[in-house]
Amino acid sequence: SRLNIGPKGFTGEKYGGATYWDTEAYCLPVYLGTTSKEVSKNLLLYRYNQLEKAKENAKKLGLEGALYPMVTFNGEECHNEWEITFEEIHRNGSMVYAIYNYTNYTGDYEYIKEYGIDVIVEVARFWASRVHLNKRKDLYMIHGVTGPNEYDNNVNNNWYTNYLAKWCLEYAAENISKLEKECIESVNRNNVSKEEVKTWLNIADKMYLPYDEELDIIVQHDDFLDKEFIKVNDLPKNNLPLNQNWSWDKILRSCFIKQADVLQGIYYFNDKFTFKEKKRNFEFYESYTVHESSLSPSIYSIIACEIDNLDKAYELYSRTARLDLDNYNNDTEDGLHITSMSGAWLSIIQGFAGMRTNNQTLSFNPKLPNKWNSYSFNINYRENKLKIEVNKDGINITNLEGNDIEVNVYDKKYIVKNNEYIAYRYVALS
Ligand code: BGC
Repeated sequence: SRLNIGPKGFTGEKYGGATYWDTEAYCLPVYLGTTSKEVSKNLLLYRYNQLEKAKENAKKLGLEGALYPMVTFNGEECHNEWEITFEEIHRNGSMVYAIYNYTNYTGDYEYIKEYGIDVIVEVARFWASRVHLNKRKDLYMIHGVTGPNEYDNNVNNNWYTNYLAKWCLEYAAENISKLEKECIESVNRNNVSKEEVKTWLNIADKMYLPYDEELDIIVQHDDFLDKEFIKVNDLPKNNLPLNQNWSWDKILRSCFIKQADVLQGIYYFNDKFTFKEKKRNFEFYESYTVHESSLSPSIYSIIACEIDNLDKAYELYSRTARLDLDNYNNDTEDGLHITSMSGAWLSIIQGFAGMRTNNQTLSFNPKLPNKWNSYSFNINYRENKLKIEVNKDGINITNLEGNDIEVNVYDKKYIVKNNEYIAYRYVALS
C-alpha cells in the first residue's frame, strides 16, 4: 500500500515512476481479475493513506474536501503545469470509481465502512465546492477544466468531468444512507449531516451535461462543436503523431482528440447508455481521435465491441496490444506503456468477451473477431477461478475452483457447478 505503478513500469524513465490515474482506471481491473483481492485493496489503500495530503491540496486551491494529485509519490502534487494540476480534476472521480469497481467485483463492503467512505465523502465535498450555480439556467456547472483529452485545455463543462462529478455526489449519498443503517460510526467519523447530503443531491440533480440535439450526441465540452472539423483519415499521414509534428498552439485549437474522453464516460458507466447512444457517440468521436495516449484505443475497442463493430474493435485491440511493438506513437524509446498492456487485457476480457460485474453480477457477452478462431482466459471472481473459452462453435465456462456460481451469459442466468462447465453452443445450452 506504500507503492504504486508508474506509467512505464520499470521499463523507462518517462513520468519518473510516479503514480497517475492510470492505476485506478486501467490497472486495477486487471489486478481484480488476475490476483487475490489483497493486491487491489492495497492499491486502494495507497490513496486512502494519502487522503490528508489530498485535503491539503484542495485547501491550497481554496476548495473543500480532497483533490488527489495528477502525479504523485507521497500524496503531494508533483506535476508542474497549471492546466493539468488545477484543471485536470476528473482524476479525482477515478479514485471513487475504483472503490465502486473494487466493491462490485469483490463484494467486500467492509472496505467502504473502514476506509472507502472517507475518500468518497471528501471527494464529494471537493465537487460540491468546485461547481458553481448558473442562476440564469438554474444549473450547476464546472468551468476551467481539462478533460482526459489533453489536446484541449481550460474548457468549460467537460461532459466527462461533469458526469463523473454528478455520479460521485450520488454515490456518496447512496453510501451514506446505507451506512446510516449498517455502520453509523463511519458516518459520524466523517461528520456528514443530512443537510450536506441534500446539498450533494441537489447539485447532482441540476448538473449541466452538454448535449447537442441536432447531432444527437453528447458534447465533449461547451465550445467543442465550434471547432473546424477534419477527420483523422483526411489528415496527411506525415502529420501524425500530432504531438511530434504540430505546435502545441495548433493542437489545442484543433478538433483532434488525444484519448477517450466522452467515450471514457460511456465505458465507465456502460450500463447507463443505450446501444444507439453508444453507436452515435462512438462514430462521431472516433473519427476525430488520434489515440496519442496509450489509454485510448482499448476503451474505443471495448465500445466498438458493444456496438457490434468487430472489425473496428479488432483494429483498436491490435493498436493497444502492438503499440510498443510497432512503435505507433514513435515513443517506445521512452519505455513501454503499462496502460496499453492492461488495455490489451481489457479489450479481450471486457471487449470481446464482454465481461461485466455491474450490480454484483458476473456476466459475459462473448463475441469472436473475424480474424480469430478462438481465445481463452482464466479469471478470478470472488472465491472462484473460472476458465472462459470462446470459439466458432460456442463458449465454455469452466468453474475451476470455488463453490457453484451464477453467471449471466447473453443476459440469461446459468449456474456453473464446482469443477463442471457449461457449454453454450450458439444454438442451445447443454
Ligand atoms: C495522458 C494521461 C496519462 C499520462 C500517463 C498522458 O499522456 O494524457 O491521461 O495519465 O499520460 O500515462
